[in-house]
Amino acid sequence: MRMRKKRHLEARMEACADILLCRGKPCKNLKEAAETFRSLLDYREIFGNDNPVELEIGCGNGGFILEKAKRERGKNFLALELCTNVILTAMERVKASGLSNIRFLNIPAEIAECYIPPRSIGVIYLNFSTPLPEKSREKQRLTSSRFLTIYKKLLKEDGRIEQKTDSEEFFDYSLARYEEAGFSVTDVTRDLHRSPYAAENIVTEYEQNFSAKGMPIFRAVAVMEGTCMKRETPTEVQYVV
Ligand code: SAH
Repeated sequence: MRMRKKRHLEARMEACADILLCRGKPCKNLKEAAETFRSLLDYREIFGNDNPVELEIGCGNGGFILEKAKRERGKNFLALELCTNVILTAMERVKASGLSNIRFLNIPAEIAECYIPPRSIGVIYLNFSTPLPEKSREKQRLTSSRFLTIYKKLLKEDGRIEQKTDSEEFFDYSLARYEEAGFSVTDVTRDLHRSPYAAENIVTEYEQNFSAKGMPIFRAVAVMEGTCMKRETPTEVQYVV
């Protein structure tokens, strides 16, 4: 289902300009994007401190990152989201909260490395990324080897990916990709809400919908290891918006 464009979208985006770090424009491929937009973020200038930085990819309406930043004020958070209509809601919620440790990137994850400095992220959160079961869309899945190559560049040496999903098929696919890429997979649960991890869990908007229908939630953590570095795959340059 396509969402209706929000009223006064541009004016409202403008009103959030102080917490929006960048907005990607359509470009033919990653190489072109890198040349056009490359400008690495200076966290000290942005946040006014040297606190650890974590990243959510596909933040949606921002429920997760808002609660996370509230609970962990000694950390800084980047929330990346492709869809302008959606990120606007998240930004307006953050502005209303008065929290100062969240900033937004309205870009596709494919060009994250144009902005996010290498080895600067402690944790990448992937919450209910679109499973895209069609074989033809495999490369667009946010845990495909193409994206894991990008994440390895962004993550600190001991960094990790924390993933939640409602799709068992996508979950199994992701676990296989992590192993293949040299990550060490831990904290696997196929029923998060009935697991020891439930107590600390922040329920996202999508998660709320799926669990209200009685669906189990799958969760895993993929930790960077020395072997990650040895298993580099060539960067994929084909990217069409
Ligand atoms: N994390 C939220 C939303 C999940 S829906 C929640 O749990 O409630 C998945 C989100 O990922 C959508 O908002 C979609 O726009 C975003 N997304 C999908 N592909 C993306 C990409 N390549 N780069 C950035 N965001 C993406």
